[in-house]
Amino acid sequence: MTKILSISDHIDKINENSVVVVRVDFNVPLNHSKIGWRVANDERIKASLPTIQLVSQRGAKVVLISHLGRPKSDKDKHLSLEPVAKYLTEKLHIPVRFVPDLIGQKAHQAIMEAKSGDVLLLENLRFFQEEKANDQEFSKKLASLGNLYVNEAFSASHRAHASVVGITKYLPSFAGIRLTEEISILNNLIDKPKKPFVLIIGGAKISDKVGMLKYLASKADLILVGGACANTFLKAEGLEIYRSRVEEIDAENKNAFVKLAKELITQVKTEKVLKDNYIPLPKLLFPFDVLAGRKIDEKNRDKVKKIALHTNMKDEEENEPWMYLDIGPKTRQLYAELIAQAETVFWNGPMGVWENPLFATGTRTIARAIVQSRAHSVVGGGDTIAAAHHFHLDRKFSFVSIAGGAALEYLSGKTLPGIKPLIKFTPN
Ligand code: ADP
Ligand code: MG
Repeated sequence: MTKILSISDHIDKINENSVVVVRVDFNVPLNHSKIGWRVANDERIKASLPTIQLVSQRGAKVVLISHLGRPKSDKDKHLSLEPVAKYLTEKLHIPVRFVPDLIGQKAHQAIMEAKSGDVLLLENLRFFQEEKANDQEFSKKLASLGNLYVNEAFSASHRAHASVVGITKYLPSFAGIRLTEEISILNNLIDKPKKPFVLIIGGAKISDKVGMLKYLASKADLILVGGACANTFLKAEGLEIYRSRVEEIDAENKNAFVKLAKELITQVKTEKVLKDNYIPLPKLLFPFDVLAGRKIDEKNRDKVKKIALHTNMKDEEENEPWMYLDIGPKTRQLYAELIAQAETVFWNGPMGVWENPLFATGTRTIARAIVQSRAHSVVGGGDTIAAAHHFHLDRKFSFVSIAGGAALEYLSGKTLPGIKPLIKFTPN
């Protein structure tokens, strides 16, 4: 059994003499307007507030550190964290002092002058190349900002960077409240999901998802595949996909993912699930009908074609530039009926190009089926959450993971470099 060292279980270690360095993920989308840069989506900021408040209420000085975007150097001033500090103060009523420095004299001075319970936000970690290099000296300098460290940036914890890995060598290190919660929710999916456990995978890039798919294949009772990821499986089954989006790694390894898909299909071949307690279905399902268009931004409904997929379809449709852009009505219906029987659902990846209303029905149907079922539902992935939000369903899931790619890596069975230092091993 692994247990995370959560700050809420060790709160007695924090008092008025503490200076707590909290690594947050304030890498939020910023919009430029006449009045300057504004925060466009604040989910990750909000998720860190309970930890910030807890530490501040204990009387400690709170030193927030984060990255923002991909600056080439500290000359990329538009990637300053200053607008985020303003946002925290004005919108979320957390008075935050922004310090335009990270490890220099100015930062140390500001921390020294701060009063008990004050919150400071320092400048973008990635203004320093040493952050991504997990540089030892830089890590030490970050550690010298305080006397205790809290990681509240799960979404950055799959990268071995100084602010999530290096720093933990030099300070007592704990997990933030939200990070602890995310890990516990994901651990439940891995260790003891209530059965039937239905895994729903879609979206664009199978490369992001294949690790999780392989790891969870034996734990899930049913795997429903959609989106461009499904095209990989269709190809593996020898079905025609025309010009549909399908991911290949590179010229040499052209069919690596198709091979992987084939392996997965074979791996679970003998396992069946019973629909309505008597209809046997394969455990791994991909679409048997699709909505196809000639272009992603097709606006004319009459030009969208329903295609039933079967092995000898090439002849009749030869040279057609079809792209499969959503799961078809029959697939949609079957998936929804199967989701209704679930007790646990994990969903990552839209079923189609939901940004175009003509190809949004698959994703909307699946989102609705999940929230209407009695299942404990966990949803993750930036685009999946955006789609769910678009359909006004995002508040209805049991848990929305904001950890992005880090959650997918965690669900691949990996010990993430930033999580490892926060784990306490307890005997079974
Ligand atoms: P997430 O961010 O939730 O992990 P992804 O980034 O993997 O999801 O995929 C989201 C994108 O996949 C969407 O922008 C959507 O347009 C695209 N997509 C889904 N299905 C298809 C498809 N059949 N063909 C092309 N693109 C697709
Ligand atoms: Mg995405």
